[in-house]
Amino acid sequence: MALQVKKFGGSSVATPEKIKRIAERVLAQKAPDDRIVIVVSAMGDSTDEMMSLARQCTHRVYGRELDMLLTTGEQTTIALLAMTLMELGHPAISLTGPQAGIQTDRAYGKGRILAIQPDRVFEALDAGNIVVVAGFQGLADNGDLITLGRGGSDTTAVALAGALQADVCEIFTDVEGVYSADPRVVPNAFKMQEITYGEMLEMARLGAGVMQPRAVEMGSRYHVPIHVRSTFADVGGTMIQEAYTVEDQGNRICGVAHDTNVTKVAVLGVDNRPGTAHMIFDCLAKSGIDVDMIVQSIRESDDSRTDIVFTISETDLPQAQEALAAFTGEEALPTILFTSHVAKISVVGAGMLGTPGVAARMFGALGAAGINIQIISTSEISISCLIDEADVEKAVACIHDTFL
Ligand code: ADP
Ligand code: ASP
Ligand code: MG
Repeated sequence: MALQVKKFGGSSVATPEKIKRIAERVLAQKAPDDRIVIVVSAMGDSTDEMMSLARQCTHRVYGRELDMLLTTGEQTTIALLAMTLMELGHPAISLTGPQAGIQTDRAYGKGRILAIQPDRVFEALDAGNIVVVAGFQGLADNGDLITLGRGGSDTTAVALAGALQADVCEIFTDVEGVYSADPRVVPNAFKMQEITYGEMLEMARLGAGVMQPRAVEMGSRYHVPIHVRSTFADVGGTMIQEAYTVEDQGNRICGVAHDTNVTKVAVLGVDNRPGTAHMIFDCLAKSGIDVDMIVQSIRESDDSRTDIVFTISETDLPQAQEALAAFTGEEALPTILFTSHVAKISVVGAGMLGTPGVAARMFGALGAAGINIQIISTSEISISCLIDEADVEKAVACIHDTFL
């Protein structure tokens, strides 16, 4: 008897026919005493479509109302899948995130799961049901619905698997696993058999959209083995786990990630005195905006002024503009420029810790391809460069060819 959590993403549940196909596959592979929880996303591109509807009403971000709207996407899918499973002869019940006991903080649009009270899920499983849970949503202590950030159904699935102490969490998607680069951009990228939580977290954080970073963090914290695999082909995918089973796998560059959801913010000519950087970043932090790459430049001709350049998610641009507008025109912060035609490209691998020259090889590959680097940042297991968005596909391909 196994307790399995299976998550199906938007493209896997895009139509009633696809929903029927996954219901048939789950039932065909289910042993009589298996206990199954299915987490689903909104159908197809419906989250994007709802975002566009909201934009037609306002260009401001009304977080509470946007979450009220977006949570309906997953709610549609759970009801349709539960009906389909029952139609095929198996008892099933749909539960929203709040009904499944998923409690979050109050951060509209980027909520974090604080706790899960899975009593109702267990009761429904004990009654013989396949339990279908809405991904991407939970309930805050003030009674509001909260979404977990784009791709958040992955986090629902892994967190539920942890809370239920499931044997495995399977992430079914439209590719066959985790690849050495986005297979839609690099056709010769290869599927990895396995990857550690640490490397997967870095790949995801740096833009590999196949898993939401929070989901990988949850998997690592609660020791949930995650199997990323294809919805459409019945073949093995990639295991995300604590350590490699093949010893030499730890000593290499594992992949290339890219992220086009990036905006560069240049705050030019600010007072070069203690407290200026704090003033800028504190105001962004108070608006819940994560800042990523940061450089402060030195002006040889006028050391009373300096330029601070950093990146944020493009999704946070309206809030950042609003937060920083308070400073524009102030003597302390004369000019703020926002540029969204940029992308971040990164190499990831625990192997780079003991291998000199990785940065030089990466910059060499970009230089040979005529791609200019705007900002560089590093972590223990990654090196990232900010480049022009128009160059991103060429950059991923040439860096992949260099290292993999
Ligand atoms: P789902 O709707 O199932 O959650 P997503 O679109 O969120 O699917 O994630 C799957 C997509 O992630 C793939 O179609 C692929 O283009 C993209 N992707 C980006 N980087 C990678 C990678 N390294 N390996 C596999 N897929 C990747
Ligand atoms: N429907 C949400 C999104 O499109 C959550 C998810 O698919 O994981 O981001
Ligand atoms: Mg996803």
